[in-house]
Amino acid sequence: MLAVMKLQRGPGASLCTTERPEPGRREVLVRVAAAAICGTDSHIHEWNAWAQGAGLKVPGVIGHECSGEIVALGAGVTDLAVGDHVSVETHIPCGRCYQCRTGDQHICADLRIFGLHTDGCFAEYAAVPAAVARRIPGEIPLETAAAFEPAGVALHGVERGGVAGADVAVVGCGPIGLFAVLFARIFGAARIFALDVAPGRLALAENVGATILIRPGEVDPVKAISDATHARGVDVILEVSGAGEALRSSFGYLRKGGRVVLLGLPGAEVSLDVTRDIVFKEATILGIHGRHMWRTWAMLEGLVASGRADFGPVLTHRLPLSEFERGFALSRGGDAGKVLLLPGGG
Ligand SMILES: [Zn+2]
Ligand SMILES: [Zn+2]
Repeated sequence: MLAVMKLQRGPGASLCTTERPEPGRREVLVRVAAAAICGTDSHIHEWNAWAQGAGLKVPGVIGHECSGEIVALGAGVTDLAVGDHVSVETHIPCGRCYQCRTGDQHICADLRIFGLHTDGCFAEYAAVPAAVARRIPGEIPLETAAAFEPAGVALHGVERGGVAGADVAVVGCGPIGLFAVLFARIFGAARIFALDVAPGRLALAENVGATILIRPGEVDPVKAISDATHARGVDVILEVSGAGEALRSSFGYLRKGGRVVLLGLPGAEVSLDVTRDIVFKEATILGIHGRHMWRTWAMLEGLVASGRADFGPVLTHRLPLSEFERGFALSRGGDAGKVLLLPGGG
C-alpha cells in the first residue's frame, strides 16, 4: 500500500510502498477514506524540538486524524463489524488508571497517541485499536468524519467555556479556531471576535460566523475589543494560536470574572502577571486536551447529522496522498482551513 512515512529521525517524510498492516488483537483494519493534516503533523514533518522529544515511532506511518471503512477485524473485536464507517479518536487510553476509571479517559495517565506512538493513517490502510475506532452514522460524509478529532477539541473547549450569550474571542483561526468559531455560534455566543494575523484565515472565520475580525499587527486587539465592549472586555477567550505573546496580551481584553480556555500549545513557558490578570480579575483558566470520550463525539454526530454544523467552509482542500508535500505547505500557509488527503483518490 501507499503510505507517507517518517523513515529516520530528522526533517521530512517520504511517500513509500509498504506492507498493508494486519489487524492485531483488539484492532480493526480501516481502509482510509480521508485523513486530515494537523499542526502536529507539520511539527513531525519539520522535526522541531517538540517532535524530537515526542516519542514518535520511527520508521512509521504518520498522520492521526482520519475516517474510513472497516475491512477486517483482529481477534477479540466484538462490537464493530466489517463495513462499519469509523472515525479515529487519537487518544488511546490505558483503561486502568484513575482517570480511565472515573469517566475521563481522554486525559489518561498513560496516554498513547495514534499516529505518534503507533503507525498512523496517511496511508491506504491503517490498523486501529478497536477502543478508539468510533462508529459513525452512515449519513455523515466520511470527509466530515475525518475532521471529528480536531473539531472535537474545539467543541470541547466551547462547551467548557460556557459561551451562551457571551462575547467570545477566538485567538488563532487555523482549523481548530475555525471550528471554535463555528461551535461558538451554534452554542449561542453573542458576538464572536476572530483574531489572526493572516487575512485569508480571517475570511474563513467570517464564513463560519465570526462577527468582528481583528488582525493583530494592523490594529491593537486590546483597543479594538475595548472600544467594541464599552471597555468591559470579552467574557470568554478561546486561545487556539499557541503563541505565548498572544496568550499573554489576551488578558488585556478579558473582562473581570471572565474565562480563558487554552487549546493551543505554546512551545515554551509563558510568563503572566498573575496578580493583575488572574487574581484581581477573578479569571478562570481552563486547559483542554482532546475531546471527552465519548460525550463530545456524540455531540459532534448529532450536530452534523442534523445539519446544525456544516464543516464545508472549514474543509478547504482535498489532495491525493502523492501530493502530501503540497498539503503540508498549504496547511502552513495563511489561506487554508483543513487540508484533507484522500488515499483512495477521492
Ligand atoms: Zn491533530
Ligand atoms: Zn488510563
